Amino acid sequence: MAKVIDGKEVASEIRRGLAEKIQRLKEGGVTPGLAVIFVGEDPASQIYVRNKEKACEEIGINSTTHRMPEDTPQNELLGLISKLNDDPGVHGILVQLPIPKHMDEEVILRAISADKDVDGFHPINMGLLLTGQGGFKPCTPYGCIKMLDKYGIDIRGKKAVILGRSNIVGKPAALMLLHRDATVTICHSRTDNIAKEIREADILVTAVGKPEMIKGDMIKPGAVVLDVGINRLESGKLVGDVHYQSASSTAGWITPVPGGVGPMTITMLLSNTVEAAEKLC
Ligand code: NDP
Repeated sequence: MAKVIDGKEVASEIRRGLAEKIQRLKEGGVTPGLAVIFVGEDPASQIYVRNKEKACEEIGINSTTHRMPEDTPQNELLGLISKLNDDPGVHGILVQLPIPKHMDEEVILRAISADKDVDGFHPINMGLLLTGQGGFKPCTPYGCIKMLDKYGIDIRGKKAVILGRSNIVGKPAALMLLHRDATVTICHSRTDNIAKEIREADILVTAVGKPEMIKGDMIKPGAVVLDVGINRLESGKLVGDVHYQSASSTAGWITPVPGGVGPMTITMLLSNTVEAAEKLC
């Protein structure tokens, strides 16, 4: 039976450490500030934004959410980003994705100062990650690595297979594992014989968005399974990309959904915001 990688538990431990850092920053006259920009009404985003606000409140980060209507002209959003870039009380800025279709996501993400890009999506931070030079790391894969480290799970020399090649999860997860000396394969919707790749994975990261597509008999016995996917079934139940029950009897380690990668994503956002405040003050 697989051991559970408890993202909630690891997240709480990291948040306690962050709260202490924030206390010290406050004693020095600095309160870390996060500005969240939310354009439109996307219901899932509403929940994510609320969760971020709550997490910030709990550990003492000053968070401000800027809500803008769906039909906001792109220039208006760029104007707000520019103002926040210049605001010394704001250490981190994030634009909640997805943004409305009439806006150019690349232009928007590029407009955020790389020093305040706590989501780690700016091309400068992406480039720093590619070349292993630091910068802000995208929160979800960063959280995955932190969980492996907290449980003392070896990465070096292991075969890591990532399902999904998005800029926010798949690609940065692959780079972070590569920097930790894993041998990395990235799979996507056009991969031939994906089952063969999955079966060979010592570490499997699933970031696809297809409910329970990976069953226990597809996984290498003893593998470490990090399930990034969040999928809501018609019944309302949240499940990952991995069929948890069957995978639990094959894998060595597994993250549950919910309670695995999810809590770590917000935690690493908090961590990046504190890091930004420490750098900028
Ligand atoms: P994207 O939709 O941007 O990317 C999905 C990736 O999966 C694409 O690269 C796609 O391939 C690939 N894919 C689709 N179908 C298959 C298939 N049958 N076999 C193999 N690969 C496939 O998603 P994100 O990366 O943004 O998110 C992935 C999942 O993770 C979602 O469920 C999302 O909700 C969740 N998520 C969870 C977070 C958390 O905190 N836990 C944070 C962020 C995301 P191709 O490129 O060829 O189209």
